[in-house]
Amino acid sequence: MAAEDTIFALATAQGKAGVAVVRLSGPQSVQVLEALGASAPKPRATRLVHLRDRDGGLLDHALVLHFAEGASFTGEAVIELHLHGSVAVVRAVLRAIEGTGLARQAEAGEFTRRALMNDRLDLTQVQGLGDMIEADTEVQRRHALRVFSGEMAERVTAWRNAILRAAALVEATIDFADEDVPVDVAPEVMELLEGVAADLRHEVSGAAVASRIRSGFEVALVGPPNVGKSSLINALTRSEAAIVSDIAGTTRDVIEVRLDLDGLPVTILDMAGLRDSSDPIERMGIDRAVKRATAADIRVFLMEVDEDWDERVALQEGDLRVRAKVDLYGGEGISAVSGAGIPEFLQALSERLQQRVATAGLVTADRHVELYRLAMVELDGLDADQIREAPELFSEVLRKVACDLRQVIGGVDTEAILGEIFASFCIGK
Ligand code: GDP
Repeated sequence: MAAEDTIFALATAQGKAGVAVVRLSGPQSVQVLEALGASAPKPRATRLVHLRDRDGGLLDHALVLHFAEGASFTGEAVIELHLHGSVAVVRAVLRAIEGTGLARQAEAGEFTRRALMNDRLDLTQVQGLGDMIEADTEVQRRHALRVFSGEMAERVTAWRNAILRAAALVEATIDFADEDVPVDVAPEVMELLEGVAADLRHEVSGAAVASRIRSGFEVALVGPPNVGKSSLINALTRSEAAIVSDIAGTTRDVIEVRLDLDGLPVTILDMAGLRDSSDPIERMGIDRAVKRATAADIRVFLMEVDEDWDERVALQEGDLRVRAKVDLYGGEGISAVSGAGIPEFLQALSERLQQRVATAGLVTADRHVELYRLAMVELDGLDADQIREAPELFSEVLRKVACDLRQVIGGVDTEAILGEIFASFCIGK
């Protein structure tokens, strides 16, 4: 492992807390602790120590954890200092660590970058970890944890293995073309490749939903002025089913309210400006609102009686039509005033979104979706006749697809790919 600087940073959130954790990573981690007047416990053990500044002044009583090189999050020697979680304690300890001259402040994401460089995590896990830290809702947590646990990397590895096995089978026909090697490998090769292509197709078509799990599903309230959109938003934010985590008015035309709906991250959009107007500036704003509503995951068309909805926004599959102000007009629907129908309305929204979540893939990064899409196109372009007609070309395409897919997990290592082809070849025989 290359000699690195030793880095340190507060690993827990800023501010008052019972405990604050400062993490050190790098070859000098233990020496930093010693420079603070304490000795490290054995790896994976803990010790209660007194941390002191250069003049011997007591900084804090801290619980110390020690992870040896090769057995830590970063792959380097790691010391964790569990301090009393006050702003002043943390500041004093960080200053004392810096004062040892043995370590420097970590840059953003540097611990994780080291974990990646030292093969403690692959690229997909880094992304899963980032999403897990950002997760506000239960569905986001579960999705991020699957990626962090390596499920995406496992899928990619399984596809690569299938592709490399197919390549090895095709190569066997080249090597033994003149000999008496029987079998038509085409059925097995095509079955392997069709399986991978089907999985890729599923992932690519589920990528948009996976992205929504990360960023939130958008539900647009559409209807004429005064139908009760703002009142509904107010009623939703008071409702127990929906915990508001964020309220932001991004533009004059759209008001956004973020809800946790049965674990789903949902942003309700109030198209505040949707009405006929002769003012060109306002009309531009309305056009933007219409585009936003059209792009949302679900539109809720609110109406007082059974009038037609706003035709500027087209009805799409899965949209809801809801009658408002039922306290005045009676019948089925919702009332922002009495609260009637609101739980049923939320239930209907939740069910529609849960159905979409069921189709989600794991992949969200645009770069990965593009890699999957390209691999799918390459595989779809192959057919069984080509195995006989141009086996070299056929296996060359497969090697390239396997190599490209590897980029999802991390670095590209041709040697490893060749090794795998060889291993697969032997096993396959
Ligand atoms: P928006 O323009 O669609 O956002 O409509 P508002 O939420 O501002 O409501 C317009 C008017 O309708 C206000 O006077 C509200 O108090 C009233 N309103 C909204 N919802 C209801 C409802 O469920 N029942 C009754 N009776 N009045 C409502």
